[in-house]
Amino acid sequence: MWNELKANLISSKIYSKEFLVFIALIIILISFIVDKIILVIPIIILITFLSLAFLNFIGRKRDEELNEIKSIVSGIRNNEYKNPGEIILNENLVGLQNEIKLMFEKEKSDIEYLKKLERMRTEFLANVSHELRTPIFAIQGYIETLLNGAIYDNKVNKNFLEKANQHTLNLSNLLNDLIDISMIESGEMRMSYRYFNIDEYLKAIIEELRPIADEKGIELIYYPVRENLKLFGDKNKLRQVFINLITNAIKYTEKGKVEVLIEEDPKYGRIIIRDTGIGIKEEDIQRIFERFYRVDKARSKAAGGTGLGLAIVKHIVEAHGSKIEVKSRLEAGSEFSFRLKK
Ligand code: ADP
Repeated sequence: MWNELKANLISSKIYSKEFLVFIALIIILISFIVDKIILVIPIIILITFLSLAFLNFIGRKRDEELNEIKSIVSGIRNNEYKNPGEIILNENLVGLQNEIKLMFEKEKSDIEYLKKLERMRTEFLANVSHELRTPIFAIQGYIETLLNGAIYDNKVNKNFLEKANQHTLNLSNLLNDLIDISMIESGEMRMSYRYFNIDEYLKAIIEELRPIADEKGIELIYYPVRENLKLFGDKNKLRQVFINLITNAIKYTEKGKVEVLIEEDPKYGRIIIRDTGIGIKEEDIQRIFERFYRVDKARSKAAGGTGLGLAIVKHIVEAHGSKIEVKSRLEAGSEFSFRLKK
C-alpha cells in the first residue's frame, strides 16, 4: 500500500521538496489564524492527510491515463489497429487522441507510399530485364545460326543480319529511353526555357518525319500557324515530345492521315497531334503513360517501340507546367494535345 501511495505521489509530480514547502506554508498560515496550539496540531495532521489522499487520487488517475496511452502506442507499434477509428482514449484525452489518430494516418500513408515505391522499383527492374533479354536473345540466336553455317546460305544470311541489326537498333532505342527516364526521375534533367518560333520549329520536325509517313502511305499534314507566334519552352526536350507523339500517330495508324495544328488563345498555344488510327480504349487511356505499358505488345515491338515514349513525353510536358490531354475513339483515331505559354 505504501509503495502504491509512493508511486502515485511520484506520478502526481509532487516531489518531496515541493511537498515539504507546501506543508510548511500551511503550518505557518494555520499558526497565524488559529491561536490555540491544541487545535493547530490536529488541523495540520488533518490537512496533511487530506493532501496526501488528494495527491494519491490525482496520481492514480494520471497513472491510468499514462497506461492507456502506453497501450495505444504499443498497439500502434505492433500493428494492432487497422484504422484510426479504433484508437480510443478516455474523454479527458480527446485532444491527444486526435493527435495520435493524425500521426497514425500519416504513418500509415507513408508506409503505403514506401511499399508502392518498392513495388514499382521491383516491377521496373523486372520489366527492364525482360525488355533487354528479348533483343539480346534474338541477336544471339541469329549470330549462332549464321556461325553454324547459315552464313553461306545466300537465301537467309542477309535477312538474318538485317534482323539482328534491327534488334540492335531496338536495344539502342531502349537504352536511350532508359537513360532519359532515369535522368528525368532522378531530377537530373536540366531544362532550358526560352521563347521560340513554333511555326519554323514544327515545320522542320514534320519534314524530318515525312519519309516515315510516306513509307506507310499516310498523309502527314501540318497546318501553319501565324509566322511570328512564339511559345515558351525547352526546344530540345520538346523535340523529343513531338517526335514521340508524331511517330506514335504514324505507327498506330493504318490508313488516313496525321494532322499537326496549333490553336491559340490569349495566353497559350495548344499543339494538337491528331490521327485517324486504331484509337485507344477508354480504360487504357490513363495507363498508356505508365512505363512499359502497351495496349498491343506485339504491334508496339514490331514497330520498334520501347513502351517508354509516352512516360517521357508526360514528364517533359509536366516540367513545362502543362498537362497532356488525350481524346480517342477505338477504330476512329486519337488526339494528343498540350499547351505552352505564349
Ligand atoms: P510504344 O513504344 O509502345 O509506342 P509509348 O509509350 O509511346 O510506347 O505508347 C504506349 C502505348 O500507347 C503504345 O504501345 C500504344 O498501345 C498506345 N498509343 C500511343 N500512341 C497511340 C496512338 N496515337 N494511337 C493509338 N495508340 C497509341
